[in-house]
Amino acid sequence: VSRVIPVDTFDLVIFGGTGDLARRKILPGLFRRFIAGQMTGESRVIGAARSELDDAGYRDLVCEAIAEFGGAEKDSGRLEEFLARLHYVPIDATGEGGWSDLRDLMRDGVVRAFYFSVAPSLFGALAERLHSNDVAGPDARIVVEKPFGRDLGGARELNATLASHFDERQIYRIDHYLGKETVQNLMAIRFGNVLFEPLWNSHYVDHIQITVAETVGVGGRGSYYDKSGAMRDMVQNHLMQLLCLIAMEPPSQFEADAVRDEKLKVIRALQPVEPHQIVRGQYDAAAGAASYREDAENPRSFTESFVALKLGISNLRWAGVPFYLRTGKKLKARSSEIAVVFKDLPHSMFEGDEKRHRNILSIRLQPNEGIDLQVTIKEPGPGGMRLVDVPLDMTFADALGDEAEAPDAYERLIMDVIRGNQTLFMRGDEVEAAWRWTDPIIEGWEARSDVPKLYEQGSSGPEDAQMLIHRDGRRWRDIR
Ligand code: NAD
Repeated sequence: VSRVIPVDTFDLVIFGGTGDLARRKILPGLFRRFIAGQMTGESRVIGAARSELDDAGYRDLVCEAIAEFGGAEKDSGRLEEFLARLHYVPIDATGEGGWSDLRDLMRDGVVRAFYFSVAPSLFGALAERLHSNDVAGPDARIVVEKPFGRDLGGARELNATLASHFDERQIYRIDHYLGKETVQNLMAIRFGNVLFEPLWNSHYVDHIQITVAETVGVGGRGSYYDKSGAMRDMVQNHLMQLLCLIAMEPPSQFEADAVRDEKLKVIRALQPVEPHQIVRGQYDAAAGAASYREDAENPRSFTESFVALKLGISNLRWAGVPFYLRTGKKLKARSSEIAVVFKDLPHSMFEGDEKRHRNILSIRLQPNEGIDLQVTIKEPGPGGMRLVDVPLDMTFADALGDEAEAPDAYERLIMDVIRGNQTLFMRGDEVEAAWRWTDPIIEGWEARSDVPKLYEQGSSGPEDAQMLIHRDGRRWRDIR
């Protein structure tokens, strides 16, 4: 039984509609929503970028993108129908040409959304021209991509620029980690069950780990990445968002501002990070594989491709509970996980049971999205009361079958934009608060000319990252 509910008719303009993100994620995603019946026939997608294309040329480009990244071959019979919904207007974000063509194309009485899939330096120019050329209309929505600034000053400036043309309720700042099925399931698990929430505090939780590990290096975008690094590229946004959802107080309702108010309180309660609580790393050269510095084409780069840190939250729920976060490139596996490690039992009644048994709730973002809970049971057989730890596994693909074929994060988030639901988008004050916490850490590195520790490709990161947690008598979970 399909539970897809069609969204209202829309005109979605994609600035940067010929770019990498549009071709890999946005357009194939829209095609899949079209096939699923969520994007109805009257809705349209309008590509806008610098290339001099016409509608036919754009349809060819999108057709190729869907063939390459679409994963919907079995539905190619409906491709023509989808392509007929596409249009194209050549526009330079910093120029004056093309805007009246775009305005003439827009329809009244449908949802208008503008996806800024261009470099952030163009966001201001786009907002300004959408407004001055009267293209946006009063209820338009704009979707802005990452990075949202590279420090607090930049984020504030960007927020102010957008705010001079759009209300906060019209601005959708994308963090695609929030569009992942398991991330939303984290909220369902916490707030939809009686079992977990009573234990979700310093009385029962020993510590929490968040890992986002990649196997890829910086590859072709090395010179871009070199100006940002793992702290700006991953921790300030994605890991911070995951931390907020894990640590926030229960919102009174599942509604955009109620949820975002609680996330903001978490960021504001973060303790400052001391230098000994954070480890930076950079991947070394390996047989046949370039080092980070070679990939970044910067032989003296001090930028980190890995970061691990320990942080604390100053509130009644989490006082004394460490949160260990790590993320990096060229690690041993592509794996993202949040693990809530519960405390040991205060007393074991089972004689000879020296091994520590712990309950661990792990939420896997990738691969194999799912949740498992490590529980202790009796080892089967006649060997007496011997205990073993086993996972109560809930891989969604197994438990829910076809229904687990969840839309990709971008697909879901774009549909949320059309529905006008901002719950899974970052609010301006959240982004600024996250930078306010991140900035002193990065400034400290820059002031000390901190040199990242080299780590072996295919490893779990630098040795010092192991020490960071071993010092506390704990260990990282295996990256697999
Ligand atoms: P890209 O360089 O592949 O594409 C840029 C697009 O912008 C092209 O369509 C180009 O024609 C258009 N463009 C460039 N200058 C323009 C101008 N002056 N006026 C109008 N159009 C112009 O970039 P991308 O990788 O698609 O990234 C787009 C945005 O998405 C960036 O903000 C990026 O940080 C963000 N992003 C990309 C990815 C990704 O996987 N590619 C992931 C996360 C975020």
